[in-house]
Amino acid sequence: MKEIVTMTPDITPIVAGNWKMNGSGNSQSMVRELVEGFDTELRQKVDMAIFPPAILLERVSNWLGDATIASGAQDCHANASGAHTGDTAAEMIVDAGGSMVLVGHSERRVDHNESNKIVATKAEAAWRAGLVAFVCIGELEAERRSGNTLDVLAEQLAGSVPDGANAANTVVAYEPVWAIGTGLVPEASDVEEAHAFIRKQLVERFGNGGATMRILYGGSVKPGNAGELMAIKNVDGALVGGASLKSEDFLGICEAYRNMT
Ligand code: PEP
Repeated sequence: MKEIVTMTPDITPIVAGNWKMNGSGNSQSMVRELVEGFDTELRQKVDMAIFPPAILLERVSNWLGDATIASGAQDCHANASGAHTGDTAAEMIVDAGGSMVLVGHSERRVDHNESNKIVATKAEAAWRAGLVAFVCIGELEAERRSGNTLDVLAEQLAGSVPDGANAANTVVAYEPVWAIGTGLVPEASDVEEAHAFIRKQLVERFGNGGATMRILYGGSVKPGNAGELMAIKNVDGALVGGASLKSEDFLGICEAYRNMT
């Protein structure tokens, strides 16, 4: 049988900051510090994106100006408009200056009962509007303990990543739910196994599109562990929650790429 290609030679990594429901009060100074700190050398090694709350997105996008830092939202509705109180359409994210959107973050899967099918529909809505969909997947602690991690990832990938995904319209973020916001991080060998598995699934389904799609690791990434995590094969960047709320820490995570070849 032909060996599956798992190399990711043409991928520019991306460090993405999920502000969650934070950012009021200090968002302008955070953006200014990120723009100032993301220097030319770093920009050549890694992409940066920030995902503020939807209500701040337009302002954040304006503050970013022509800095090469992307912005996006943390969720979108599947429909382009309609009677959906409190929701945001993908098209509105574009209007607010965003180019990306997270779909299926574990907090939404839990807080809003989002199924794989709903997540897939949101990813398609993102594409319809021209956004890059960051599809989040990851196992619960109990699922890891019972040895089901890879089965869960296979099911979430199959159900949440729609046909039509490619390296330009989709990023997969692997976030073990038990590592999010807890300070716990899987062993490097476990991260490597999960990312190799995701890569294999993506290549089998999407061919070259899957071979070059970015796969991010998320879950308690900090400046102190980013070097080790970002050096793992098939880890093409990070989705960062808590540490994205301090520009110094977020830039510190990007620094992991400065001396990487
Ligand atoms: C996240 O919410 O996507 C996340 C990874 O959070 P944290 O970095 O705080 O674990």
